[in-house]
Amino acid sequence: MVRSRVILFLIFLLHGVLCHAEDTLKIYSVEPPFWWAGMEYNNLQLLVYGQNIGNTNVSSSSPDIQIKEIHRPENKNYLFIDIEIFPEAAPGVYKIEFLNDINETTSIQYSLKVRAENAGKQKGFKSTDVIYLLMPDRFSNGNPENDNHKDMLESADRSNPNGRHGGDIEGIANHLDYIADMGFTAIWINPLLENNMPAYSYHGYAITDFYRIDPRFGSNHDYKLLVDSAHSKGLKVIMDMVFNHCGTGNPLIEDLPVPDWVNMWDNFTRTSYRGDIISDPYVSDYDLEIMEKGWFSFGMADLNQNNPFVYNYLLQNCIWWIEYSGIDGIRMDTYPFPEKESMAKWAKTILELYPRFSIVGEVWLREPAQTAYWQEGNRFGYDSFLPVVTDFPLYYAMSEAFVEKESWQDGITKLHNILSQDFLYSNPDNLLVFADNHDLSRFFTTINEDLSLFKMAMTFLLTTRGIPEIYYGTEILMTGEEHSGHGYIRQDFPGGWRTDTINAFVAKGLSPDQLEAQLFLKKLLNWRASSEVIHSGHLKHYLPADGIYVYFRYNDDKSVMVAINKNSEEVQLETARFKENLTEYNSAVEIISGSAISDLDNIRLPSRSAIVLELNKD
Ligand code: CA
Repeated sequence: MVRSRVILFLIFLLHGVLCHAEDTLKIYSVEPPFWWAGMEYNNLQLLVYGQNIGNTNVSSSSPDIQIKEIHRPENKNYLFIDIEIFPEAAPGVYKIEFLNDINETTSIQYSLKVRAENAGKQKGFKSTDVIYLLMPDRFSNGNPENDNHKDMLESADRSNPNGRHGGDIEGIANHLDYIADMGFTAIWINPLLENNMPAYSYHGYAITDFYRIDPRFGSNHDYKLLVDSAHSKGLKVIMDMVFNHCGTGNPLIEDLPVPDWVNMWDNFTRTSYRGDIISDPYVSDYDLEIMEKGWFSFGMADLNQNNPFVYNYLLQNCIWWIEYSGIDGIRMDTYPFPEKESMAKWAKTILELYPRFSIVGEVWLREPAQTAYWQEGNRFGYDSFLPVVTDFPLYYAMSEAFVEKESWQDGITKLHNILSQDFLYSNPDNLLVFADNHDLSRFFTTINEDLSLFKMAMTFLLTTRGIPEIYYGTEILMTGEEHSGHGYIRQDFPGGWRTDTINAFVAKGLSPDQLEAQLFLKKLLNWRASSEVIHSGHLKHYLPADGIYVYFRYNDDKSVMVAINKNSEEVQLETARFKENLTEYNSAVEIISGSAISDLDNIRLPSRSAIVLELNKD
């Protein structure tokens, strides 16, 4: 009897020890990891993730911050703490304490940093800019030492088109001069945040840590230095953000803070990818639900932006990166996929906090009307507060216009037709125009690797309205068919790896056509960089006729005439029908060849080419 009592006592004791072990407090992470003193956004919601942290009382003795509310989700590993940071709160470390019901305590030292001198003064990107889009894993490997990382699931394998190739931030930093010398004024880098996924992690769209640069690209500090360095060379930096979904390897997905952090389905349900239905007046609830709440892919969980905790998490993450890194703008992925009212609130808030900032939303839609629906200030009953949208309609037109045989509706008239629908847009100058990007067949492949067509199309892209984007490698005629797999349209930039025998950064080993394309773009880009009339001038175009498309960019002082001749023969262009744009002008200089033109009544158009004439009044 006594013996059994001893055993019972021992069991009781052991139970107590085990309970204590379970109750032990441990904090894994606090997000945002720090904030800044003197911010306009000073009501912060901290997400505290830690063992049994949900049962604690939270306190701070500082008079400069106030804990306003504590949200306790069912999952005891989380707390959401609303704190107000008073304007007088000085930069420094603020202690927040956690106490559980058996008097165990733990604490965090929460830092309020000093804001950067130029914080909040970002310039934004606009039609004065031309953006160079690059995929960091595929651009240049500045540091082969970081290709693999002990905590990251996928290792580098340059022989695998869908694997990691080792490109990184140092590689980008090493070649900023090349990008600036080419005449680009901004860079959009595909996502750099941690993607700790077992495969396909190179592209960056399956984020597993919203506050950490993937260590295989570098560190957060490296990113900040890259932005500073880019700025010192006159280049703006656009951060690629993804709020619609995240990688299933994200700790917040593996251990959900709240059950509806992501949109859950009984069985895996993929989005329909049909962004066009969001603006459809006849859309069914069923279709909307699949589109908005379906998952982007098996490894990419669909975040629920309508949940206020998720919304705050994403908003604060965005502000954090703007403040931390000093970026100039954002490219937001898959804009029609997340809940649209929450995204509108996000865009409005960011632009109120950073009025000169720019955001471009990826709206992958075929029709100008559907695209215009997503630009701010439209008349269609939904205001996205999104200043810039991607011009996919013009992309589709460009991919057909130059290769098709001319007819009433085919060929170059497609460019004219798309531009003629600009009345739909609240601001056509704020359309991102492009011939390809990281998801599309490379443009040189689309136009059957024809250098003449390439030059005509690039001339159009860089002189029409909008903000041009050029995908890395376009300048050296890189090829790739989207249907072969995305790895083939995202190949390594030659010269980015130390063992490369061809080095496009210094024009070593390029073919004559590649050299010609690179020099052609360099000339055009550098001319465009200082051509105000292209940035903000009016556009007037004339109906394409006989395979020739003529348009003007003009303001009160200047006028530029562009003529694209698709014919295989040289043409003497009679200019009588363009009189309204030419009456004040007597001569011109063609900006690529540098040749002077003294007779504007008859202009020689070489076969299969475009000319860009700066018109003169004397
Ligand atoms: Ca590397």
